[in-house]
Amino acid sequence: MKNDLPTPSGFVTEPGLADLCRTHPDLHYRPATQQGREILAFGQVCLEEIALQVGTPCWVINADILRNRARRFKAAFAAFDLTVRHHFAVKAQDHLAVLTVLHQEGFGADIVSGGELQRSLTAGMAPGEIVFSGIGKTDAELREAIALEIAQINVESAEELERINHLAGEMGRSARIALRVNPDIDAGTHDKITTGRAEDKFGIQYADIIPVYRRAMEEYAHLHPVGLAVHLGSQILSAEPYRKGYERLAGIVRDLRQAGLTVSEIDCGGGLGIAYRDELAPEPALLAEIIAQTLGPLDVTLRVEPGRFLAGPAGVLLAGITEIKAASHQHAREFVILDAGMTELIRPALYESWHGILPLQRNSELQAEKKVDLVGPICESSDVFARQRLLPPLKRGEIVALLDAGAYGSVMSSHYNTRPLATQVMSEGKDWSIIRPRQSVEELLSAEMIPSWLASTHLAE
Ligand SMILES: *Cc1c(COP(=O)(O)O)cnc(C)c1O
Repeated sequence: MKNDLPTPSGFVTEPGLADLCRTHPDLHYRPATQQGREILAFGQVCLEEIALQVGTPCWVINADILRNRARRFKAAFAAFDLTVRHHFAVKAQDHLAVLTVLHQEGFGADIVSGGELQRSLTAGMAPGEIVFSGIGKTDAELREAIALEIAQINVESAEELERINHLAGEMGRSARIALRVNPDIDAGTHDKITTGRAEDKFGIQYADIIPVYRRAMEEYAHLHPVGLAVHLGSQILSAEPYRKGYERLAGIVRDLRQAGLTVSEIDCGGGLGIAYRDELAPEPALLAEIIAQTLGPLDVTLRVEPGRFLAGPAGVLLAGITEIKAASHQHAREFVILDAGMTELIRPALYESWHGILPLQRNSELQAEKKVDLVGPICESSDVFARQRLLPPLKRGEIVALLDAGAYGSVMSSHYNTRPLATQVMSEGKDWSIIRPRQSVEELLSAEMIPSWLASTHLAE
């Protein structure tokens, strides 16, 4: 865990409750009727009320924040004279209600599977608003995308290009494709979420683009190449990788045009980072400016694919405290054991990521804070949300909110330890509603079958 390391903004200490409220204006404590007690509000809803009604663990996604961030993102690009299509990276938060909200805000979808294709269509998106990215698309997924005539398929390799041409030919169709370039740029983010280096599995090496593009235009009769695509990685916090990546891309477009090939579209990918802790996250305006400067002069239709930026800050995970394991002589640490774990939010275990944690109740009188480890109930040593986090005294039965859990949170849930999926709630204004009820163990078990030969086998005597 990196909790005690200096962060990009140079602070050595972790942000406390007041700091987190300052950096998260949608979260604030408001006085409760009971004297001295304050309760946490997320936008206009009281999180305690939701947790008490639906139980924990529980996800709350705030549609107002989604809308505000979607509008802020679009406005940043509208400030420039560019033709831009906005696509939400569905893998960050794929709930139908979230896709519906973002579609209302003018976003199409960037998908990475046939399942996400079906979701996007179900949420009301038109095939022309959908871009298919991702490595290892199956024949069945590609056939569906070709048949629907989606906006474009981003091709990850020369082999995939040939396969798409073949499939489109069999179907008597023409597939709109873009080549995903691997620009060999280090996005400077966590090793597990950088995607644009030569050693990463994504994209076609940039030195190979011209011959592959030429083949797509001149040899493959069933492809309609529209341009290039790139995605450098996720949680990008500086302008540098974007500037370098898009400059490289612009250079390739100029080379392609010089070679007599037509390029009319560029898909800029996603990756814009957010402030989980005290990072200095770039504004969409900075991304828009870099894109305008580097790709604007090419006079192409642009696509952008934010995921985390839109959904991350729009969601929290509520978790109840099941037990407090006190420190002892043998064990100097106090463990706060939550009813949510890596089966709900795997990011800390997978990427060593830091999430703000706020108790839903706070006593407005100053209380001594102490350092505790917040852990989940899963039988894995990596099932830890925070180590040595400074928090006010917590009690068994209390509820905490894990912040910025809206992206790459619920979508990465698993059933490990036979844990049913947690409840999901969406709020808008003062209203909130369950958008996915808690799964039951019966639902999990009912999907399993015991082979008939086992049923007839006698127990060992
Ligand atoms: C994951 C992904 C995105 C979104 O990334 P964020 O960091 O969530 O913005 C965009 N495009 C592609 C191709 C992706 O794989």
